[in-house]
Amino acid sequence: MSTPEIRVEGLHKSFGDNHVLRGIDLEIGQGEVVCVIGPSGSGKSTLLRCVNLLEEPQQGTIVVGGTELTDPDVDIDAVRRRIGMVFQQFNLFPHLDVTENLTLPQRRVLGRDKAAAEKVAAENLARVGLADKAHAYPSSLSGGQQQRVAIARSLAMGPEVMLFDEPTSALDPELVGDVLAVMRGLAEEGMTMMVVTHEMTFAREVADRVVFMDGGVIVEQGTPEEVIGNPKNERTRHFLSRVL
Ligand code: ADP
Ligand code: MG
Repeated sequence: MSTPEIRVEGLHKSFGDNHVLRGIDLEIGQGEVVCVIGPSGSGKSTLLRCVNLLEEPQQGTIVVGGTELTDPDVDIDAVRRRIGMVFQQFNLFPHLDVTENLTLPQRRVLGRDKAAAEKVAAENLARVGLADKAHAYPSSLSGGQQQRVAIARSLAMGPEVMLFDEPTSALDPELVGDVLAVMRGLAEEGMTMMVVTHEMTFAREVADRVVFMDGGVIVEQGTPEEVIGNPKNERTRHFLSRVL
């Protein structure tokens, strides 16, 4: 692998005496798509949140795009701008229309003027297939459309890396496909992506690598064919037997 876009080394995170991440080592190359799978409570969200500095690890190193996040002198806001994050809950501003949802963070965080922010908003709404919803309010959109707006809002910030934490878990089944299609498109454009998901078909088809976590460690990783198609570890097999 060339210089990794994300490098995690010896990462430990506890909440009180709950030792959640117990020594995670993970490298993600530029343009690589890594799907993280594993049972509830295994530490998947905590790992993503550490990579975005929403949680502060007790021990270990995290480097994103050459910047060490775990350096005490790091400019957290500058780093966060380069890392997009999409959650299960879309967290759109309900009192703002779709375009305003996309322009507000660009103006506040990046200092773009209104016209420039609106141009970037329009480009990214088109990218997620919602150009016609520019002036809709979130409450008039389906969950899948709201999640695509949330993805566009993140993309409008021009991130180098996108982190997704179960982006389709809150959606009705018939709305999942459109969101996954947008993510698949991003992967094809070469975005570096770390995706926590239970969508095994997506992981099989889109991931370059699948990481199986259990009990705060990476138990097994490899190509989708290796990890989902032919798991070596008994814990991986047990997990897959319940979700497939
Ligand atoms: P997963 O995403 O794999 O389901 P999480 O990373 O959400 O797992 O959680 C792993 C463990 O960390 C769980 O035991 C959970 O209760 C605990 N945990 C996660 N976030 C916090 C928090 N902010 N405060 C206390 N405990 C937390
Ligand atoms: Mg989680």
